Amino acid sequence: MKIAIASGKGGTGKTFVATNLFYALQQAKIPVTIVDCDAEEPNVHLFISGCLTKSFDVTQKVPVINESICTHCGRCHKYCSYNAIFHVPTLQVIKVMEDLCHGCGACFVACNDSAITEKQSVLGTVKRFDLANQFTMIEGRTKIGVYSSVKLIKAAIAEAGSDSVVLFDSPPGTSCPFIQTAHLADFVVLVTEPTPFGLSDLKQSVETLADMNKPMGVVVNRAGIGNSDVYNYLKEKKIPLLMEIPFSREIALTYSKGLLISAMDEVWLGKFRQLFDTLTPHSWK
Ligand code: SF4
Ligand code: SF4
Repeated sequence: MKIAIASGKGGTGKTFVATNLFYALQQAKIPVTIVDCDAEEPNVHLFISGCLTKSFDVTQKVPVINESICTHCGRCHKYCSYNAIFHVPTLQVIKVMEDLCHGCGACFVACNDSAITEKQSVLGTVKRFDLANQFTMIEGRTKIGVYSSVKLIKAAIAEAGSDSVVLFDSPPGTSCPFIQTAHLADFVVLVTEPTPFGLSDLKQSVETLADMNKPMGVVVNRAGIGNSDVYNYLKEKKIPLLMEIPFSREIALTYSKGLLISAMDEVWLGKFRQLFDTLTPHSWK
């Protein structure tokens, strides 16, 4: 089963939920892999460490324009949906902005003058860390300045293969990287806060997942702050409230030290195990 843990924005607590859930499964001897899909700022490694067993670069093809052949017809610029080709015909200037390029190949096809060839460009690195038999952490990390992390995330998720339980620590937001991660999950756990900002981000995530027809549930983090609007929204939309994590100085302090609350406190270990049982009512009993 593939479970994505996501939130509308960063800092809401999805890594807290993902890493504690991983630990609870590990303690229950349920084989589990966690994939850090937050490739622009991966931080699962701050809480879970293992032995590096594999590392590989993820690349994509980017165009190279031979300016001595280019006729400045402008077709490649016109075909590029990502504005990755800078072209000023009057000055005879043409340049590929590699950071914006998605490697779609449209410009290569568009050029009738054979002025474009392709080269491989590194998007980032996927690393695999093995903790013990059947417990694995996989990290996708984009190179600084790379515009899209989608291909890298796909490679990191593919590295997990068809392991029994795979947790995705999703990228924040609701753009392409989030959609790619959620699309490959069987269930999405949305982590939110009971505040107006939390509700606004939650609504966007829910609408995106509803369009994808993806099953989802919600964990409310920092419960006790804010108001009851998030809870009312969940009732109205019939979205299950999976768990509440109270606003607590102890939890915040534990997290800030890179420690897992489920490793420090049996009660929390039980709560995260319970969360997993809620997601998979017929499995692993
Ligand atoms: S490969 Fe695609 S995204 Fe990249 S420059 Fe060419 S048309 Fe644009
Ligand atoms: S399509 Fe080819 S010839 Fe035309 S501007 Fe682009 S690189 Fe130059």
